[in-house]
Amino acid sequence: MSSIFTKIINGEIPSYKVAENENFYAFLDINPNAKGHTLVVPKKEVNKLFDLEESLYNELMSFSRQIGLAIEKCIPCNRVGMAVIGLEVPHVHVHLIPLKKMEDIQFKKKEKLEPEEFEAIAKKIAENL
Ligand code: AMP
Repeated sequence: MSSIFTKIINGEIPSYKVAENENFYAFLDINPNAKGHTLVVPKKEVNKLFDLEESLYNELMSFSRQIGLAIEKCIPCNRVGMAVIGLEVPHVHVHLIPLKKMEDIQFKKKEKLEPEEFEAIAKKIAENL
């Protein structure tokens, strides 16, 4: 069965898309730690980060860097943190999280956003790529 992220990539489930290329898809996390929390996913469905073939792993880091730089340009924060967890969704994804304080990376306190705000944030990040 396809992962929820494969369904998002295929357009079967909606997402707030930030960017896409041949191998990757970036979109806003639906339950964000902070405004601008973005997920970067390889289209190839692989469970664990270090099981990616090395070239795809390197491309994922490079694509995530581009998105992270765009987030830094338009979302007020001290820096963009990066985390890879995957305990909930077994399809590799990089969390890019705008940080103001340590607890923003701790996946405890969540932001509630309206659809319009998600849309505006995704658009803003995309425009800063
Ligand atoms: P983890 O697998 O622990 O790294 O967490 C998976 C992340 O995916 C969580 O932060 C969820 O909020 C996020 N997530 C799950 N389903 C969706 C979805 N349909 N759209 C956007 N983000 C999602």
